[in-house]
Amino acid sequence: MKLSRRTLLKAGSLSALALTFPQTGPAVAKAAPGMPADRSGAQIPTICGMCKASCPMLAVRHRNGHLRLTGNPVSPIHGNTLCARGMAAVQLLADPDRLKYPLKRVGPRGKGVWKRITWYEALAEISGRIKKAHADFGPESLALLCGSSSATFIRQLYEGLSSPHIYDASRSHSAAIRELGYGTVFGQVPDPAFVPELDQADCLLLMGCHVGENNQVSQLKQVCDFLNRGSELVVVDPRFSAMAAKADHYLAIRPGTDTALLLGWMHHILAQGLYDPFLAAQVVGMEELWEAVAPYTLTKTAEITDIPAEKIRRAVETMVAAAPRTVIMPGGHLSWYGTDVDRVRAQAILTALLGSRPSPSLPAFDFAGQRQPLSFAPLINQIGSGKIKVTALWGQNPLQAEMAPYKTMVALKDADFIFACDVLPSEATLYADIILPEAAFLERLDALHSWDIGEQTMTGCRFPVAAPGHECRDPYEIVKNIAEGCGQGRLFAARDIRHYLEMSLAEQGTSLAALQKAGGLLLQNKEAKSRTPLEADAATGPEAVLVPPDTSARGLTLPTPSGKIEFYSAWLAHNGFSPLPLYVAPDQAPEGYLRLLYGRCPAHSLTRTAGFTWLNHEVPENELWLAPSVAEPLGIVDGEEVRLENRDGFRSLQRLKVKVTPGIREDCCYMSHGFGNRSPFIQDAYLRGVSDSGLMSRGRVDPVSGTRGMRDSFVRLLRSGHDS
Ligand code: SF4
Repeated sequence: MKLSRRTLLKAGSLSALALTFPQTGPAVAKAAPGMPADRSGAQIPTICGMCKASCPMLAVRHRNGHLRLTGNPVSPIHGNTLCARGMAAVQLLADPDRLKYPLKRVGPRGKGVWKRITWYEALAEISGRIKKAHADFGPESLALLCGSSSATFIRQLYEGLSSPHIYDASRSHSAAIRELGYGTVFGQVPDPAFVPELDQADCLLLMGCHVGENNQVSQLKQVCDFLNRGSELVVVDPRFSAMAAKADHYLAIRPGTDTALLLGWMHHILAQGLYDPFLAAQVVGMEELWEAVAPYTLTKTAEITDIPAEKIRRAVETMVAAAPRTVIMPGGHLSWYGTDVDRVRAQAILTALLGSRPSPSLPAFDFAGQRQPLSFAPLINQIGSGKIKVTALWGQNPLQAEMAPYKTMVALKDADFIFACDVLPSEATLYADIILPEAAFLERLDALHSWDIGEQTMTGCRFPVAAPGHECRDPYEIVKNIAEGCGQGRLFAARDIRHYLEMSLAEQGTSLAALQKAGGLLLQNKEAKSRTPLEADAATGPEAVLVPPDTSARGLTLPTPSGKIEFYSAWLAHNGFSPLPLYVAPDQAPEGYLRLLYGRCPAHSLTRTAGFTWLNHEVPENELWLAPSVAEPLGIVDGEEVRLENRDGFRSLQRLKVKVTPGIREDCCYMSHGFGNRSPFIQDAYLRGVSDSGLMSRGRVDPVSGTRGMRDSFVRLLRSGHDS
């Protein structure tokens, strides 16, 4: 069957499937009624800023003045496709709720009582606070919570000030775990946004990976092409996800037992001799791996995972039959159970046993630059205790991105000084002393962006489509001014962002004009560029660097300490971690509670889109997936509204609708992330749906990455009349 968007929507049986489509048809008409479908107007290349995927975009200004966003066909991996969020981004330009002027808090923290001040006053106060804190208490007194694409320059300032407290939520919950998992096995790290091997693959394994719901255009296009070839799809998920609906093998796993399944699959491959006999010479730790997986027979694995042994066997033999053209999707959001680096290492080792490797053109994992992880909870405690004197929230809302928001609120209330820079007044900005209005991504030039697309690197730039609204400014200008005010102007030598980009592009032998003329994207063969290591996590100070690897025995081909694939990682062992992946059973649900699972909705992957009326028209709120065997004894019917309460007594602020479906196991329930915004200043998002992170108050911390797992929360359902 050929997969079109329409068949995907139908076959998925799930309303939450990808709203990703090329730029023709009714979606355009809905997005901009009356807009002509031609592209005769001026085209400005830019880059979408609605999620981390950063898809290349074209802004088309039609003769009637309408602005329309499309994909940039120059990109070989994105084409002219955008997802619904990207297409809706034009709404941001005229959003009435946008931050318009610098503001100073004049009421209690959290209440959102501000007065308008000048840029001069705002920047002078921030610079003065940073300068004084740095001089009196050292770099440890400064913290930065960031995550948006505009944080490049504020990071540079904080790094220049040697702050050990730079916390990037999106990196901690995804890339940091993936780098440690794959990097310690292969010395290289795959990027889930584009997996070159997938173009030739005969089998794909998705473990808890919600392709199509967690939209990334390049990834979804690759997976649709893969499915159109009729290749084999294996999906492991406690929930019958959009991709599960298309799977040849769907394994409804007991939540939290994925590592055991991976170890069981490895056991079967090793016990049956289903791997390349020459592999042993290419790896370190074959015998140790065999010992580690020995307990995980098919029977034992079936018992742990609650998947029939025969299903486990058939799935792995399908993957073996397709090897080495079997791909395991590396995954995006990976902070599940606090044992996540081990799970991702197990994925990487299974990849190697199947004879596959990450693309050799990927950047090398920076063993020597790795640092002790910076965990969110200790950092927020330091902010609340006053040990940290200046906290910056840069396009970051920890009240949705992190668990235990009520603890975070208390800490932010008690903080010494907070400044925020954002486009919309998110709930975290309510705690800021000074708020800076940032130009929306369509209104600014930003630092260069690079995409790894196999043998080539693609470089692009976010060209402004409109002038900054109100008094909003671009992040380079803001940070340069702060830096100059606190004596760090040398870090920002360029006059402005345009000058900065010209300097960066001149190093690559090109210019902004050439980049624009090339359609906004430059494609370069990787051989022409030097292979740079992945950026080391700048989350901690120099004293916290982990023990570097011993590379004296290196002699083979991979950028690991041994030069081989490392099933056994001596580097992890030297740093006090398990050298082989271990399975640790997750917490058990208390009587009467269900494990809370969450995922993404294609219209609202993050809370930042929750106020977009076009997207809310498509998906107005989240709902709670519940198995009939759970709903019926409680007398709960489909569509009924319930409130949720976790085991620590935290309740959802709103009720949400129940979706009774056999598409979820009876030991868990599910909702999508991105709802339940608590800022009354984003009117169309305020208390729309329920916040998943608001129901998370406990979780194990992964010892290797330092990131807290977010799937160890349990909730019970309170029916109307029992929830006061
Ligand atoms: S996936 Fe969608 S929201 Fe994300 S960058 Fe691409 S178009 Fe924008």
